[in-house]
Amino acid sequence: MIESVIADPSAHEKFLWRNDALEIWGSSVVHVSAVGHASVASVFEGIKAYWNPDREQLYCFRLEEHMERLVASARLARIQCRWTVAELVKATLDLLRANDSRRDTYIRPWLFAKGLMRDQMVPAGVATELVIDTWPFTTSSADHAVRAGISTWTRISERLMPPRIKAFSNYSNGRLGMIEAQLNGYDCPIFLNELGFVTESAGACIAIVRKGVVLTPPLSAGILESITRDTLLTLLPEMSYAYREQDITRTDLYMASEAFFMGTGWEVMPIKQVDQMTYPSSAPGEYTRKIRERYLQLVRGESGQHHEWLTPVWKQDS
Ligand code: PMP
Repeated sequence: MIESVIADPSAHEKFLWRNDALEIWGSSVVHVSAVGHASVASVFEGIKAYWNPDREQLYCFRLEEHMERLVASARLARIQCRWTVAELVKATLDLLRANDSRRDTYIRPWLFAKGLMRDQMVPAGVATELVIDTWPFTTSSADHAVRAGISTWTRISERLMPPRIKAFSNYSNGRLGMIEAQLNGYDCPIFLNELGFVTESAGACIAIVRKGVVLTPPLSAGILESITRDTLLTLLPEMSYAYREQDITRTDLYMASEAFFMGTGWEVMPIKQVDQMTYPSSAPGEYTRKIRERYLQLVRGESGQHHEWLTPVWKQDS
């Protein structure tokens, strides 16, 4: 299952970061009356830091871009964010150092409406809190491939709320699709948009391989502006693989030779079946395997490439 990437669901670090200060994880609380509204007006990020044992270094992957997306999510959701990207990057590094994080670590910042809002539904400009929490994860094995099913739930569209940002409210859609998929015996859903084109899954974007070209839906299909997707679209030409961003139909999904999900949490996840139709090359197919290898080497700082995407937590490499 995809959840297996969390090393130990009950594990936590000593500190989390909250509103400019480190707080002891176990004593960091909010009042129960604040929870409902905070979950409506709330945006978040999912970031990974990878441990490189040879260099004894922890690399945060595209930390700045994730914090830029958090600030953009807040702006679009009209939630006040009084922290700059630079402050959020520094806060994350301070937290990882305070926790002496020297293993693969997931980083979860989230920003939510503060206090007990009893009269109005979270007006714009209300004060907010920002928390950063971290926990260990492990990367699932290369031969782990998932079975996906087309969801009967339509993906939220630009006409409803912005799918491009990480607002917790958007994830009601993903959650319903995930539950439905698992009840039907799949690992995860694939959502179509209102026009019937493929969008993404509940926690990752999607790409297929057809006639030697990697195809992925455009942002206008109604998908999260994924940082992993952007990473792979940069890596593909470097690997001499052709790609196109284009609308993908259900038939395209079935006719592909390979397919994979991409996201910070799911990394590059091979898909072995869609709607019980098994891909001809046993997943991971050749493209997916090579793309996955390249991605995992890069994020761990093993490929020597794109150092601009890696923020070291510990003393700089010599
Ligand atoms: N789509 C959705 C709905 C997601 O939740 C995620 C995970 N953040 C992604 C795509 C992949 O985005 P990223 O590569 O930035 O993690």
